[in-house]
Amino acid sequence: MTTGSCLCGTVRYEINGPYQWMAHCHCSMCRKHHGSLFGTTVGVTGENFRWLAGEDAIVHYRSSAAYERPFCSQCGSPVPHAAGPVVICPAGGLEDDLDAKPLAHIFVSSKSPLHEINDDLQRFDEYPPGYGTAMPTPQNPAVTAGGTALHGGCLCGAVAFEIDEQPRNLVNCHCSRCRKSRGAAHGTNFFTRLEKLRWTRGEDSIRTYKVPGAELFAVSFCADCGSSLPAPFTPIKRFIVPAGAVDTPLPIKVGINIWVGSKAPWFDLADGLPRFEAMPPMDRVREVMF
Ligand SMILES: [Zn+2]
Ligand SMILES: [Zn+2]
Ligand SMILES: [Zn+2]
Repeated sequence: MTTGSCLCGTVRYEINGPYQWMAHCHCSMCRKHHGSLFGTTVGVTGENFRWLAGEDAIVHYRSSAAYERPFCSQCGSPVPHAAGPVVICPAGGLEDDLDAKPLAHIFVSSKSPLHEINDDLQRFDEYPPGYGTAMPTPQNPAVTAGGTALHGGCLCGAVAFEIDEQPRNLVNCHCSRCRKSRGAAHGTNFFTRLEKLRWTRGEDSIRTYKVPGAELFAVSFCADCGSSLPAPFTPIKRFIVPAGAVDTPLPIKVGINIWVGSKAPWFDLADGLPRFEAMPPMDRVREVMF
């Protein structure tokens, strides 16, 4: 048995093998919903899945006729959902070693230019042949041409923001909080100064969850669709911005991996970038993270 939960712990579940599949999905809907550069899911049959707590705290957002993207109403983390006979679980929410690893990349044709695939897993432009229906693409708000602002928002379009600052560093974070809140292998984030970001739409729909006892860590998400949004890290006067929430192409690539000591056991890190077991040393934080 492998247990899983959302970031705040309200929604909990357990799964058991045999797994039906495990794959990284690069579709634009996963990227928006998770706020990460790709999502990773594990499929199990209904008899190998059990809710332990918090089923009534789940908001069921339907992103297309065929697909639902439920999330925890308290913390926004993606949570499992049934699709026919199979329950699809965000691997980032799982707590123990599954003793299984992803076998493929799907929707590679929609991959973020920020992410390089560095492994030898099978790649499919969309679904593997013979599997399901084509994944529809979301109606993202048009990116306004001109100007230097970055534009972003959530999957359902209720919330939008602009950032008047180009990021200097893009960081993969493997800490358990990022993995749970994004429901992904890791978060990919950058920081921007508080005064450089403004909400252009839907500020009333933003919910923020701060981890009790954590000095900094907070997540923000859309109350309607659960997508990860920039969250204030007020003590350092910055927002942490999930790269998946940004629509404007970013001019930089991911530079480092942090909290690698907390990495998901099912994720092989093969990008060759500098890595830190936890936070970079304090005298380097400004240089490599801000
Ligand atoms: Zn939660
Ligand atoms: Zn939304
Ligand atoms: Zn993190």
